[in-house]
Amino acid sequence: MGDREIRHMITCRELVELVTDYVEGRLDTESVARFEEHLAQCPPCVGYVGQFRQTIDALGHLPPESLSPQAEQELVAAFGDWRAGRED
Ligand SMILES: [Zn+2]
Repeated sequence: MGDREIRHMITCRELVELVTDYVEGRLDTESVARFEEHLAQCPPCVGYVGQFRQTIDALGHLPPESLSPQAEQELVAAFGDWRAGRED
């Protein structure tokens, strides 16, 4: 039958974009199926999702957006400079 007609597999990038919704249970059934289909074939993404879950467990909530710590620090630093140069 149509077994070989695998529907659009999500990419690693798409998986990363979906991970928040996935762990929060906000994905619809089909998206979850695609997400897990990708995980079944992509060990690095399994590791990524595992880390993501650990982060949430550690923080007790979701990290703000998907900002990496480094990006966040740069933002804070840039923002600090901006404020420091604004003396009124
Ligand atoms: Zn992947």
